[in-house]
Amino acid sequence: MFNLVLFGPPGAGKGTQSIQIAEKYHLAHISTGDIFRREIRDETPLGLRVKGIIEKGELVPDELLIDLLRSAMHKYDGGRGFIFDGFPRTLRQAADLDDLLEEDGEKVNLTLALEVEDQELITRLLIRAEREGRKDDTREVIANRLNVYQTQTRPLIDYYRKQGKFRAVAGQGTIEEIFGRLCKEIDVSLSSR
Ligand code: AMP
Repeated sequence: MFNLVLFGPPGAGKGTQSIQIAEKYHLAHISTGDIFRREIRDETPLGLRVKGIIEKGELVPDELLIDLLRSAMHKYDGGRGFIFDGFPRTLRQAADLDDLLEEDGEKVNLTLALEVEDQELITRLLIRAEREGRKDDTREVIANRLNVYQTQTRPLIDYYRKQGKFRAVAGQGTIEEIFGRLCKEIDVSLSSR
């Protein structure tokens, strides 16, 4: 299996790129943000529990993520691998993901980070707010999400870099250009296995 983590601040284009990567490399796409939005829409107990947290731009507590992830992964048993989009976001989640994959004799093979300047991220997120009306795309919540990314998620770069699994990719340019850069890194990683 090939397991890929796509990593980057809100608005970096993780969702768009993950869908294309999943299709090209036949990976199962797991977006924890999409899972939570579905739970909120369906007003499930989990959805009701996380709604306020997500609307403020905070992270959902780590202990709620692991079971969610386990059941999302089990749906795709026997596939070629996963692309994790928006997960892990904390060191605890990264360790949990390692444990979960290890249960099946698997590991994270590659972590790719999309790098985009803050000003560009804010512009993109405000445009998305108009188009999609996501409740966490207001100016205030965006600032909080960028801050949460810097303080809680960025430390993961070192975690993966120490394991020689981390590659940064410029997240500016057209969707096709960025996709091309990501594919190049994936191809290198696949061919060196
Ligand atoms: P996203 O669509 O990935 O930007 O996720 C939207 C929101 O869902 C985030 O701002 C968090 O509140 C929550 N969320 C998604 N994934 C995670 C995660 N791995 N850990 C904690 N919270 C998450």
